[in-house]
Amino acid sequence: MAFLKFLGTAGARFVVMKQLRASGGVWLSVGQTNLYIDPGPGALVRCLSSRPKMDPSILNGIVLTHKHLDHSGDVNVMIEAMTEGGFKKRGVLFAPRDALEQDPVVLRYAMGYVDKVEVLKEDTEYQIGDIRFSTARKHQHQVETYGLNFKTSPHTISFITDTRFFPELPGLYRGEILVIHVVRLKPVGKEPIEHLSMEDVKHILKIAKPRLTLLTHFGMTMIKAKPWVVAAELEKELGLKVIAASDGMKINLEEV
Ligand SMILES: [Zn+2]
Repeated sequence: MAFLKFLGTAGARFVVMKQLRASGGVWLSVGQTNLYIDPGPGALVRCLSSRPKMDPSILNGIVLTHKHLDHSGDVNVMIEAMTEGGFKKRGVLFAPRDALEQDPVVLRYAMGYVDKVEVLKEDTEYQIGDIRFSTARKHQHQVETYGLNFKTSPHTISFITDTRFFPELPGLYRGEILVIHVVRLKPVGKEPIEHLSMEDVKHILKIAKPRLTLLTHFGMTMIKAKPWVVAAELEKELGLKVIAASDGMKINLEEV
């Protein structure tokens, strides 16, 4: 069964620090391949406490969209879990260069446990087992950040991680399923916060028209507004299927 499972839906510091939502990232499974995206704080605990239990030692790879802690806090322990404590050299780590080199979030010894480290760059295709994906242009975020387009079957999936809105954004992510990180309910105006708001999401959906949108990575203003209420309103307004992800939610890609 091909699936996406949310081991966390928290975004931004406050929701993560208080663990108002879990912050473990997303597990993608297609065919024989299991890929973990953005193992934030608690990823390992959320895997092992989920029902049924998710076993990180079957992972084929781990992707970091960027090095912010809410996306990478558990990357080292997840590498250890994937490689059975480093005793089985296996798996691929995908990460932007600045997550590996300047003020790195991946420890040098943990990097030695994986079979291969692939540096994420702009507009590049990658393959791991049954999963093919590409990056688009660099996001507008404080650190080097890439969204992902998965050319998976039965549906393509786009994954828009943290960024400030820019006009080309909707055209870069045309997957049938769109996972979008929406930290803010309202735009921030001139404040230097490089995250998407619901206004931005609405704009993106009107152009991209995905078959299914999954909202996740909620900041405090989204949590207070109840993400499921916000999603239902957007679905009604746009006539597109929109779901607010919840911790532990599993989407069977064959049923979408
Ligand atoms: Zn970030």
